[in-house]
Amino acid sequence: PLNIGVLALQGAFSEHVIVLNKLANTENISKVIEVRTKEQLGSIDALIIPGGESTTMALIAERSGLIEPLREFVKTKPTWGTCAGLILLSHKATNTKKNGQELLGVLPVTVSRNKFGRQVDSFTISLPSPCLDAVTESGNSNSFPYVFIRAPCIIGIDDPLVQELIVLPTSSPAEEKGDIVAVKYKHLLGTSFHPELTNDNRWHQYFINMARENI
Ligand code: GLN
Repeated sequence: PLNIGVLALQGAFSEHVIVLNKLANTENISKVIEVRTKEQLGSIDALIIPGGESTTMALIAERSGLIEPLREFVKTKPTWGTCAGLILLSHKATNTKKNGQELLGVLPVTVSRNKFGRQVDSFTISLPSPCLDAVTESGNSNSFPYVFIRAPCIIGIDDPLVQELIVLPTSSPAEEKGDIVAVKYKHLLGTSFHPELTNDNRWHQYFINMARENI
């Protein structure tokens, strides 16, 4: 059984918690924990860092003494960053405020914040996703409804020779321009969209499988 935490400092954490609770029985999750303290972080096997506002989230993490424990956690434990969470996991972020911003810096990619434009340019798009085949029931389509909200995009991989970094194909329009919206690196998953805002739980199942392989 797995204890999964969702970083609950800011942003769309409750939505992730709801999805995980729905999956608890079938996926053998023993506890879903909203993480706000070092102690809570210490009690989980895997973590989701939700979407929201990455600078605010980092600021609250700093003020609550969580930034260093988080840095340690993400070095070895399965962690999935969605949207703002992806930004926090990345080595580098562009399109930031003047003085840059605090990052956890474990995912060897560069992200561009708000790559898809402003809040009004947020959109949902259904796209074939071969990377979800393993969690798609046979006979069903692998299309997934992607929700992009002021979403970042991965614009560069720091070291193209890093073999463990896998770009997950989602046929997103960004990919045609060479941008990337989903990557897996060792025990880390980074996605620029919000799967917790859909009724489709396959990206959560994908992460849970990945987490089990990495604990
Ligand atoms: N634009 C936000 C940021 O930079 C991310 C948006 C989101 O998480 N939906 O943090």
